[in-house]
Parts: sequence; C-alpha cells; structure tokens
Amino acid sequence: MLNDYRKYLPSELRGLNWQTHPLDGALILFDRNTGLNIKLKGEETTHLERNAPRTLLIAVTNICNLQCPFCYRDLESASDWTYASLLEFCQAASEWGVLEVAFGGGEPMLFPNWERFIHELYETSNLAINFTTNGLKLTSNFLRSIEGKYGNIRLSLYETNHYETTIALLVESGARFGVNWLITPDELPHIESKFLKLLSLGVRDFLLLSYKGSDPALHFQRQHYAEFAAFVQRMFRSLNGVAQIKLDVCWGDMLPEVPRLFEATDCSAGDAFLSITSDKRIKPCSFHHWAVPFETLDDVRRYWQQKRGLHQAAAIGGCARLPDRALTLNGGVSDEIIHLASV
Ligand code: SF4
Repeated sequence: MLNDYRKYLPSELRGLNWQTHPLDGALILFDRNTGLNIKLKGEETTHLERNAPRTLLIAVTNICNLQCPFCYRDLESASDWTYASLLEFCQAASEWGVLEVAFGGGEPMLFPNWERFIHELYETSNLAINFTTNGLKLTSNFLRSIEGKYGNIRLSLYETNHYETTIALLVESGARFGVNWLITPDELPHIESKFLKLLSLGVRDFLLLSYKGSDPALHFQRQHYAEFAAFVQRMFRSLNGVAQIKLDVCWGDMLPEVPRLFEATDCSAGDAFLSITSDKRIKPCSFHHWAVPFETLDDVRRYWQQKRGLHQAAAIGGCARLPDRALTLNGGVSDEIIHLASV
C-alpha cells in the first residue's frame, strides 16, 4: 500500500509529489506544494500504524517585537536554537516522517537569517514550512523571495500590529496566508462585521482560536458558545466555499452544532503533533505543563513513542481534554487544573 497507492487516485492526481504518512489504520497522502491531503482508508490500510507525528510546532526564538498581555510563551525561556541546530533538527524530523513544521516564537521573522533558513530547509527536506508571525517585519521582497517554498503564513491579529496593512501586503504579493484570530467574549459583539471586513480585505483562511489561560474575563461563559456557534454556522452557509473557517482543536465539543470536516474525539496533542520550545523542551502542545528537555531528534522520537497514547490534559483553563474545558459556569477556571499540574 505504501508503494502502490497511486492506483487508488484519479489520473489527474497521480503525478503530484505525494509523501505518504501512515496513520493507525489509514494512509495520508500529502503534497507540500499544493497543501493537498488525501486520506485512504480500507482493508488495504488496516495494518498500518502511525510512526511519526504529522506536525512539529517549533518556537524558533523567544524574542518578540511586541508584548501582548495574553501571550502564552514563557518569558524566562532562552532562545537556544541556532541556524545550524534548527536546520539539522528539522531535516532529521523530515527523515523520521514528519510532514509539516509550524514555526512560531516569539517572532520567527527575528530568527537570524530567517529567509535563507526557509530556502535551505525547503531544498534539503520534504517538509511543508509554515510560520506564524505578527507581520511587522514582513516585506514584499521577503515574500517574493520565499514564494513557492512555504506552505502557509499565519498572521496573528492583534490590536497593536497594524494587521490591515500587513493583509494588504500579503494579498498584493499573492502570498498563501491565513489569519489567527483569538475569540474572547469582547470579540463577540463585533465579530461578524470584523469577519466581513477581513473578507473584503482578501482574507480567505480564518483560524478562530479559543483562549487558554487563567484570566476569567477572556474565557467564554455558557451563553457565549451558542452565540459563537451561530456566527460560525451563518458565515459557513453564506461563504459558500469562498473562504475557509477553521476552529482550533481546543474548542473540543463545546460547539456541537458547528459542521466539521472531520469528526474528532480528541485534540491529538502529543500524537498528531508535538510542541518544541525555544529552549529545547518537548511538550504535547504549546499550552501543556509537561515539558521534557531533549538534545536530539532521537530523544523526541522516544518521547513521542512513550507518550503518544496517554492523551494527557494540559493544566490550563480551556483545555478540551478537561471536563467542560475546566471552566466554571461564569467563565472562571476550576480547581481541577491545580491538581493536574502537580501530577
Ligand atoms: S492538550 Fe488541551 S490545551 Fe493542548 S491542544 Fe489539546 S485541548 Fe488544547
């Protein structure tokens, strides 16, 4: 199956540069240049087992040119990656079977020789290269230079990062991009007008993020979920395929009425993806309290093999692996996570 999968594809898709990525009982085909995924599942795939996470989320630096109050990075963490060590690590991840890297930080545009790094990683690995940025350091020259070498640029929407100007730049440059938008109760009263404004600016990919943290004012209360779900349904129906709406995995089952492309019962942290910090620690996800130092990709591989089946919740309000995301009726964070953090 791993070798003769092309016979299952329509003829127009057989020529793409597919990479195979076994799952437990299925096979993913992925073409990094188009971002196209195909999942094959049948009798022929029942024996397959996942042998690597699909994605590594890597904080390349802890340095940032903004200081957002809700930022979850550990301000005490060092920036231990060098150009050479990061390149070697990512190349080894590609050989292991990882399909994508999603770089963040800190601000990845501040990593030394970032443009050259993207070129070199693209040329020397099979990875799809994605990165999240506040956009302040993006230029048209940079975007032209990396054209065709990256999968997706994720632009974070903040009050302080002039994102409308950056969106105009990304659209003008024909960049492949989407926006990361943190949805808090304060966003709800104007969420539709902001969404339509972004759409009119040329945004076609919206990732709607839930808040994880200890500030009750930023968490949804019960009534907010219904309001938000109704908004997503309304937009989904009226967009008619013009743009994609994505929900982060941490919403869990709090939005049951919203149509999903894939049914998922777990967020897959620690299994389909792992988080790698700027000071070289492994976590199941970026919000997790488990953090294990490592030296080499082999250490990461061993960690993944040992922990991937545990589905351990993160000790943070908003984690979908905790009952009701560990939130009380008024949006406060329950004591459960205090106990969990000590485990
Ligand atoms: S473990 Fe919890 S916080 Fe982490 S990705 Fe999963 S649902 Fe989100």
